[in-house]
Amino acid sequence: MALLSVGSRGPEVGTLQRELNRQLFPSPNLIVDSIFGPLTQKAVKAFQTREGLTPDGIVGPLTRAALGMPNPDKAFTHKIRLHFRSISLTDIPFNTILANTQVVYAQFGIKVEFASGMSLLLDPAKAKSLEQIDGSCTWKVTTGEFAELLQLGGRVPATDIAVFFVDRFSESINGCGGHLKDRPACIVAKAGSKFCTAHEVCHVLLTPSFAPVHITDPNNLMHPVDVNRTKTPGLTAAQVTQVKASSQCLTI
Ligand SMILES: [Zn+2]
Repeated sequence: MALLSVGSRGPEVGTLQRELNRQLFPSPNLIVDSIFGPLTQKAVKAFQTREGLTPDGIVGPLTRAALGMPNPDKAFTHKIRLHFRSISLTDIPFNTILANTQVVYAQFGIKVEFASGMSLLLDPAKAKSLEQIDGSCTWKVTTGEFAELLQLGGRVPATDIAVFFVDRFSESINGCGGHLKDRPACIVAKAGSKFCTAHEVCHVLLTPSFAPVHITDPNNLMHPVDVNRTKTPGLTAAQVTQVKASSQCLTI
């Protein structure tokens, strides 16, 4: 894995500078000279801080993934494909949710691909009724508003995962990984934290057969409470093995 740091030169550094100019706010307005100097380093650190990464000014796999920069060394061995389906805008922008999800899984060589995005246009009555998803989050969804929601927007391939974004649940939860039979999906509420989607996607990947479902360690992605975390959460070796064995985690 080629790391980019002070002194690096070449077209990849140019791509890095363009992405930093585009993704940081306010823009650092770096001159795209393809030379990694102190100003580029400063911008990398600012970006890493914003993304909850260690601000070391070195562009490794996590920072690359967060920037959406392609990985030249094929560090990824697996991929998961997500389809975003929204009936509500989220507090955290969708592209940030995607980047945070990518950062989590990149740690384990898993690439998170954005397969499609769709705003689900509902008629006013339906929009009103699904503004709050009533009922209980269960592994196997069969009826009720959970089922109604999860049938919207058409089927995605059984090897992919649909992520539904909603305003809120009647239960005090920010997400649910339960879904309809053979239709891998999860639901995330507007107020979900930056790693909420990664967490719910992990429920889908782990499947109900994996125990423990939740892990008390707050540094684990499967910590039960959706609190805002600054450090990118990880997974145990057993969780990673199970995730990679999932039908929705494809080898590349
Ligand atoms: Zn959970």
